[in-house]
Parts: sequence; C-alpha cells; structure tokens
Amino acid sequence: MIFTKKRTYKQHDNEKDSFYKFSAKKLSNQNKITDSFSSDICIIGAGLTGISSALHLANNGLTITILEANKVGAGASGRNGGQLGIGMRKDQFFLENKFGFERAKFFWNIGLEAVRTVTNLVNKYEIDCALRKGIMHVGNTKRDYKYFIEEMNHMQKKYDYSNYEYFDYKNIKNEVASERYYSGILSKDSYHLNPLKLTYGLAEACLKNNIKIFENSPVNKIEDKNSEVHIHTNKQIIKSKKIIVACNGYLDDLLGSTRNYFMPINNYIIATEPIGETLAKKLIKRNCGVIDSRFMIDYYRFSEDYRLLFGGPETITSKFVKDAKNFVAKRMYKVFPEMQKYKIEFSWGGTLAISINRLPILGYLMNQKLIYSHAYSGHGLAMSVMAGKLISEKILDKSNRFDMFNQIKHIKIPGGNILRRPIYSSAIIYYRAIDFLNRL
Ligand SMILES: Cc1cc2nc3c(=O)[nH]c(=O)nc-3n(C[C@H](O)[C@H](O)[C@H](O)COP(=O)(O)OP(=O)(O)OC[C@H]3O[C@@H](n4cnc5c(N)ncnc54)[C@H](O)[C@@H]3O)c2cc1C
Repeated sequence: MIFTKKRTYKQHDNEKDSFYKFSAKKLSNQNKITDSFSSDICIIGAGLTGISSALHLANNGLTITILEANKVGAGASGRNGGQLGIGMRKDQFFLENKFGFERAKFFWNIGLEAVRTVTNLVNKYEIDCALRKGIMHVGNTKRDYKYFIEEMNHMQKKYDYSNYEYFDYKNIKNEVASERYYSGILSKDSYHLNPLKLTYGLAEACLKNNIKIFENSPVNKIEDKNSEVHIHTNKQIIKSKKIIVACNGYLDDLLGSTRNYFMPINNYIIATEPIGETLAKKLIKRNCGVIDSRFMIDYYRFSEDYRLLFGGPETITSKFVKDAKNFVAKRMYKVFPEMQKYKIEFSWGGTLAISINRLPILGYLMNQKLIYSHAYSGHGLAMSVMAGKLISEKILDKSNRFDMFNQIKHIKIPGGNILRRPIYSSAIIYYRAIDFLNRL
C-alpha cells in the first residue's frame, strides 16, 4: 500500500515546543537511514510500544533496528497527559461481562503489571521522569459515588484488591479544590510522570543495548517475501525476519484495512506558568493526577515545576489544531477559575487511536512475521510499554500472553476509509450531547 495523502506524523512539522520538549534534556539526534541492510527485527515507530519492544528483546542475540518517521517520542508517547493508570481502559464489570471472570482477571493483572513494568524500568535505568504517586477519579455527577463504591467493594471482594480510597462530597473538596465534583476515588497504585522524559530514558537504554534507531526515516511500504519481510523507506530496503509495527494513531494506511478497527483522534493539552508548590497543593492536596467521570474527560496534574498541565478536549475531524490554547483553557477555568490569573505558556496536541470496545488491538499479519499493537484508547502510557513486553515474549516464545489479547474480537468501524470518520464522529457528538444535557 502506498500513501496518497499527507501523512499524520507530518502534522507536527513546524510546531511550537510542548512543555515536555521544553523540560526534557534532548536525546542525541539519531541518523537518518542511508543504506539498505538486513536486521533480525525491524520496528516501525519510536514511541513507547516500539522502544519497549526493542528493549525487552535486547540481549537475546538478535539485531534490532527502529525506524522512526519523525523523532523519538514525536508521537503520543512524548505528548500525553502522563497519567500512568492501572487496569484497562474499561472497568472489570465490562471485562467480566464480555470475557468471564478468569479472562477479566488476566486483563486486570496485566494492567497492574503494566504500571509495575514502567516503574521497574524507571528504577533500573535511573530515569528522572518526575514519577509521582496516585490518580484521583473525580465524579462530575451526584450519581457517580454509587459507581465508585460499587467498584471498590467489587475489587475488594472478587480480586482481593484494596488499594482504592473513597472520598465523599465533603472530603473530595479537601483533595481537589473545585466546585465541580461530588465524590472521588483514589487509585493508590497509579502514578503520573513526564512521558517524554520516560520515552527518552528508555530510548537511551536501547542505544546502550546496541539497538539502532534511525530518525526522519519513514517507512512507505511493507512487502511479504515468504521467509522475510522487505521494509521500504524512501530509497532503502531493510530485509527482516520479523517486523513490529508500532505506529498507533499515526499508522495511516501502512497496514491497509487494519486501521479501520480504530479511530485516530486528536487530543490537546495546555501548561500554565509555574504557580508554586503551595498553591498547587491547595488545588490538588496530594499532588496526584486527576481524571473526571465524563465521556469527554478532563485530565490534569501538576508538572515537576508546578505548572498545571490540563488536557481533555478532542477534535473529531482529521484536522490537527496547532494552537489549542483557548478551547482547552475554557475547560480549565471551569474547574479552577483562579487559574485565569496565570499565563498559559504551552499548548500542544497529539493523535491517539481508539478502538470500539476501548481495548488494545494486538495482532499479526504475513504469517506472524509482522506483529502490531495499537489502539490503547487513551490508556496507553502503561499499556504501550506492557505491549512491548508481550510482543517480546511472543517473539522469544516465552509465553502466550500476547495471544490472550490477539483473541479479543474487535469490531470494524463501519464506512471504510471514507465514511469511517463521519460515522464515528456522529457517535462522539451523541455522547457529548449527553455530557451537555447532564450540564457537565
Ligand atoms: C494528548 C494525548 C494525551 C494522552 N494522555 C494519556 C494519559 O494521560 N495516559 C495514558 O495512559 N495514555 C494517554 N494517551 C495515550 C498514549 O499516549 C498512547 O497510547 C501511547 O503513547 C501510544 O504509544 P505508541 O508508541 O504506540 O504510539 P506513538 O507514541 O504515537 O508512536 C508512534 C510512532 O510511529 C511513528 N510512525 C508513524 N508512521 C510511521 C512510518 N510510516 N514510518 C516510521 N515511523 C512511523 C510516529 O512518528 C510515532 O513516533 C494520550 C495520548 C494523547 C495524544
């Protein structure tokens, strides 16, 4: 398949720096590909899925190459909200209903392991990425408390899991100083962090482990050649026994109709000027991440230098907004009106991939020579790293955990390449209307 329209990764050309770029020590520039060669494993995309796959495969006698169209961490991995949440994007009630208790428990354990895998890597490679504990899920409606309590009790009873703490109407205001919330539940095993620092730290670890990374080296075409795969860049061909495609929301038509199982969505974040630790802790007492309970969520947290990083709104057309300051700020002021006094110093966005059931899509093509993983549906900070681990286990024949995900039946978004976006957008507009009718 050859690209015909402007490719998604190019939407970031000539953009202003994000707060993360401003805050992170630059990774050394990696060469552009200039020669054709062979590599045992070739990975497309230097986000967390690609980098984690490479790192988990390292030191097993395989040559490993990563090809990145843009720069390391230029996709969602270096742009996201930094909320490192446990579990899957869907709760255990949904998973139990869909898969039965045992499989649901498997996914729950993977979700816990995903976060542990990230924190272990941070410790192992001594990555300074401002890792902080806790995510508070706050309820925008009077009804949410019922769900929070039900979930807590269920997790305690069925999973022997008790690392949640509930906050009622009075107490949630001590935790998050906003008039918007009626209740909350703190996930004590979740974290937040600076995702670009994490991505650079793991990329450094790859380089130290003899993994080659090429930047500004887009892949245009992948060809199945029986015993190997030919990966075409602008002028070069890499011959490889296995290829891992880790392009997530930036995939375009590199894998043909595979992309019709998810929708690429653009989501945006702003960063204020630093407001100081004292005020920051008045707004969010324990400096945890915060996520609200609406369909189109607000998510926010304080950075390592106490800027409020506030994200949430998404656009449903394919057009990428380069300056999202105003429409994100409107939402921030509703939560914390006092923030109107402070300058907004950065705004940026990125593309993520959403599947219909909000579960990640892990699969194969070309007789299992090609492996892909994407569509973490906004919950990919931990899961993309975990997917890299599962991919490595599959390639090294160490476990069948990859296949537990591969067996999930995903539904194609109807409408093919042309009508897929309007059909999906109509559904989003419907759910936004529900948020609106609930006066959220
Ligand atoms: C604004 C925003 C906020 C988010 N917030 C959170 C959050 O708080 N918590 C959470 O858990 N998740 C969050 N996510 C989701 C999370 O960031 C992603 O799920 C995760 O980073 C996906 O990682 P990835 O490596 O699969 O993809 P990406 O990081 O997007 O990497 C894909 C890479 O592939 C490259 N590429 C594409 N095409 C080609 C090609 N043809 N050749 C070579 N390279 C190519 C791209 O340039 C890109 O670098 C957010 C996402 C966004 C956009």
